[in-house]
Amino acid sequence: MKEIFLLKMGEIVLKGANKRQFEARLRQNVRRRMKRYGKFDVYSMQSTVYVEPMDEEADVDGAWEACHAIFGVVSLCRCRPCEKNVEAIYQAVENYLGDDLDCAASFKVESKRSDKQFPLTSIQLSQEIGGRLAEAHPACAVDVHHPQYTVYVEVRDLAAYVHGPAEPGAGGLPTGVGGRAMVLLSGGIDSPVAAYMIAKRGVEVEAVHFFSYPYTSQLAKDKVVELARLVSRYSGKMTVNVVSFTQIQEAIRDNCPEEYFTLIMRRFMMEISQRIAGWDGCGALITGENLGQVASQTMEAMAVTGAAVQIPVFMPLVGMDKEEIVSIARKIGTMETSILPYEDCCTVFTPKHPKTKPTLGQVLNAEKALDREALIAQALESVEKIRVNFYDEPVL
Ligand code: ATP
Ligand code: MG
Repeated sequence: MKEIFLLKMGEIVLKGANKRQFEARLRQNVRRRMKRYGKFDVYSMQSTVYVEPMDEEADVDGAWEACHAIFGVVSLCRCRPCEKNVEAIYQAVENYLGDDLDCAASFKVESKRSDKQFPLTSIQLSQEIGGRLAEAHPACAVDVHHPQYTVYVEVRDLAAYVHGPAEPGAGGLPTGVGGRAMVLLSGGIDSPVAAYMIAKRGVEVEAVHFFSYPYTSQLAKDKVVELARLVSRYSGKMTVNVVSFTQIQEAIRDNCPEEYFTLIMRRFMMEISQRIAGWDGCGALITGENLGQVASQTMEAMAVTGAAVQIPVFMPLVGMDKEEIVSIARKIGTMETSILPYEDCCTVFTPKHPKTKPTLGQVLNAEKALDREALIAQALESVEKIRVNFYDEPVL
């Protein structure tokens, strides 16, 4: 008898007209993710997406692993479908979960019945199945308050399904329901986490990276491409736009007061990113900025950098502590790559005494000596587009 997956959608967002769109997009995303693992039938009913392997060739374990990275799924379980009668349900539990019960000291059965035609109530069904299991597994005691193991029985439209405890899903909203945004991706800890967090809200993410060869090495670029690849496990395939930033940085160094270097550089990054966002249909920018972390991340500095663009700038980490950011980086698997010691272009030409409370007027004055349009046009011509996909070979 085969095994299928039940992917449960978040209930809170399942309101009104959004629900159908949400469900359709989630089904489409799941189908796309399952393709590489063989033939799977993917359908949805009652706020649940069903993923059913269609033949013996299907890589069920690979598919199961991939389902944990699909946004819009709050929890998921592998289960055994069976006919909707007590005998069939009991046999399914025994065959499918009997070994788990033998390893546990105590258990309970929890039933849900969305098919109201089913002759027993949920409580009666739990009692019936629980009673039979207790007889068959005398070493495993019934404990309805603090069981070590819980057997779940769901009587749904098409069949009954039995399973053990569900696992947490990736949460969030299905990729694509929230539009598209462009992340400014450095090689640090923060920006990959920022990309993940906005992607989690149903947003498709593309990336831009500013690269200052020869001040920063090829390895620094590879590191960023690798970080994008890791984030794409969740967000789906991504394009990294690599912009050559050397000439802009040199022009700033040669023509502007040192205390404004970082601010002017960040304003260029924002403006160039906004232009690339326009090419790629992205309606917002994402950065890993965090209030108070460094001199360029004060409220005043953010006002100055934000003034370089007209589209919204999302900073999902703005109020988080470093430990919180690091724990997400570990969870999504970007931490180890982020801490590799290759220099980022921000650390080139860093001012000794950066201005922490700049005004826009001061900065506009400080960048007057530059031909902004020409520098931006030149940078845009240098853009190299690199496609990344989590399932490609690691870059580093
Ligand atoms: P991160 O850990 O993401 O590097 P950070 O704490 O080092 O962040 P900054 O170096 O001040 O902070 O950069 C702030 C944000 O600017 C980054 O989170 C990122 O979004 C963007 N950024 C910085 N450097 C680059 C770069 N070379 N290319 C693209 N974006 C960058
Ligand atoms: Mg950085």
